[in-house]
Amino acid sequence: MNYSEKSSSFDRHRPMKQADMHCRVSVPQSKLERLPSVPSSESVDEREERLFKSLDYGNHGYVLTSDLQRALTNIGLAPNDRRLSESMGALTAFLKQAQLSEEEDTSRHIPRGPFIDAVRSNIVLIERALQGRMVIPDFRTFCDEVDALYERTKLNRQGAPADYIPQLNLGEPDVDRFAMALCTVDGQQHATGDYEHRFTVQSASKPVNYCMALAEHGPEFVHEYIGQEPSGSSFNELTLNKQNKPHNPMINAGALMSSSLIGLSGRTSGAGQEDPRAWAGERFAHVMQTWRALCGQEEPTFSTSVYLSERETADRNHALAYFMREKRAFPSEACLHDVLDFYIQCCSIEVTAQMMSVVAGTLANGGVCPVTGERVFSSEIVRHCLSMMSSCGMYDYSGEFAFKVGLPAKSSVSGVVMVVIPNVMGLCTWSPRLDEIGNSARGLEFCQRLVDTYNFHNFDSLTGLSGKRDPRMDPIHQRALSVNEMILAASKGDLGAIQDQLKRGSDLQCKDYDLRTPLHLAAAENQLNVVGFFIERQRLDPESVNLNARDRWGGTPLDDAYLQSHAEMIELLEQAGAVRGDARERTLAQRNTHPALVTSDPLKTGELIWAASRGNLTAISKLVAQGVSLEAADYDLRTAMHLAAAEGETGVLRYLLAHGATVNARDRWGSTPLDEAIRHNAVDAAELLRAKCETVTCQADE
Ligand code: GLU
Repeated sequence: MNYSEKSSSFDRHRPMKQADMHCRVSVPQSKLERLPSVPSSESVDEREERLFKSLDYGNHGYVLTSDLQRALTNIGLAPNDRRLSESMGALTAFLKQAQLSEEEDTSRHIPRGPFIDAVRSNIVLIERALQGRMVIPDFRTFCDEVDALYERTKLNRQGAPADYIPQLNLGEPDVDRFAMALCTVDGQQHATGDYEHRFTVQSASKPVNYCMALAEHGPEFVHEYIGQEPSGSSFNELTLNKQNKPHNPMINAGALMSSSLIGLSGRTSGAGQEDPRAWAGERFAHVMQTWRALCGQEEPTFSTSVYLSERETADRNHALAYFMREKRAFPSEACLHDVLDFYIQCCSIEVTAQMMSVVAGTLANGGVCPVTGERVFSSEIVRHCLSMMSSCGMYDYSGEFAFKVGLPAKSSVSGVVMVVIPNVMGLCTWSPRLDEIGNSARGLEFCQRLVDTYNFHNFDSLTGLSGKRDPRMDPIHQRALSVNEMILAASKGDLGAIQDQLKRGSDLQCKDYDLRTPLHLAAAENQLNVVGFFIERQRLDPESVNLNARDRWGGTPLDDAYLQSHAEMIELLEQAGAVRGDARERTLAQRNTHPALVTSDPLKTGELIWAASRGNLTAISKLVAQGVSLEAADYDLRTAMHLAAAEGETGVLRYLLAHGATVNARDRWGSTPLDEAIRHNAVDAAELLRAKCETVTCQADE
């Protein structure tokens, strides 16, 4: 059994090779989107330089340690993440040195050189983190939202702890403990409540033992002894299927069988052992080692009291084992007492909810532990295990759980619910009060709330825009996608794209940061086919399109048509009943004066401008880390500077100016950012821009 095979995803010092850039055919789209979008000609130094620039907020030539830490924790990486150890070690060494030389200030400042040297060691992960290219890009918001779900679920005090194993029958205050933890496939971690409290895994050992049996023998052999169907009766029922096999590996009979298969080869042959008496100890050490690997090298412990308590009361499991032996269900080499004892040992392994979430994250990640990069099980084994968890993991509630929650999960009598969202994250709740079926009452409620909020149900993907949130999408990206893409299509006359987006649920009346709508742009760019389509839609359903929507300056689409002198467009709109707004005095730009840069990536530009208009510096810094140009302009030649000025976002303006954004770009109507600040009475922003304008030649239209 090989548990030491390392994933290559954390290879150090490895510049992107040509081959890496050509992996598009075999990499699933979701993973592709998370690859760094770096042109192949770019040298490694430029990448590191860009990361430095994104965090050097004031362009002072240094990054504050607190800014780096905040950026990493915001995306869900702890500064002590093992995958960052080289970089963090180098930074700590540098800061210590700076402190020793008593350069007070420098103890918090990391200049360009040391920063670049340090991040180089873990560049792939740090780059993805600072660019926000992780499976949950807006991790902070997501954590706040799931914490709110946790708080609401915590009010549920229904159910009672298991009492058939005396040590599980917890009293106050332990019975009301509640923990929630999650770990994404990128190793982003978050935990709430009693997440450091240890509990025994009980039935949550079943998927692990099943995987271990599969790893040792392969699925054909294992399923000669265990079926794959839900049993239709309770987890410890004295029943086997028609072939006298346990129904599946997630109920007690099946788990006893998996246990009998672990280490079987070593037991029969004594292979590789100097002393055959060492076998049982080595087998359990192997189990613990597997758990440690699944937990990201955190140490699982063992509860002797729970073990003894269960051993003394395991009448039903004894009955089951004898029943199976009578039916000759076990492999001939297996010893009944040994199997029972080993099974109870495995149930008595202790972890925290946080550790368990990493186990679930490892399953979500196809068997590679997200926080260490170590492959623990093959993806084939994980696929088998998740299939069984999907149909049989939640006791007699498994069918309803598959229907309502639609995710592979395993619960246990200690109150654990381990949930796997494949390719996204693993999640664990722990709360000892169980419902009458034996599932944690809070665990079930939390899962239900989770899939009511997010499109995580296995089949949410089929329902199109279900109205649920997709945390895999950055909200700013989502906005640019739904608004800017529609407006761009309208401005270019791409009616097909508009119709496509409409089918996907997009809104024809969407508005950008300047309250511009697709119709404004179609009118401005003389796209008669698009305007005709909008007018027709409006005729059929007056609520679906507003022909007279007002933009930031009070202008209607008809104003745009007049401004650009599109005679045919004016006629079309007026015949449909469109009216003029309050933007009659607007003029067009003197096109040759500082034209804004029209970008090759309009959606990224959209994201940048949205972020600027909302004062979202974190999002802007991520876009800078991605190499997005700060001067890029949209379909109205509006730039991030224009919007930051109009909204009085001085923090953003300072950042943009420090990073070399043009101060005097002119939009469609010839306005500069300073014009915008003055027009919107953004006094501080105007002052800031005026000071800058003194050093460059630019004038407001006052
Ligand atoms: N050790 C427990 C038993 O066999 C595990 C049961 C469970 O968590 O479902 O009874």
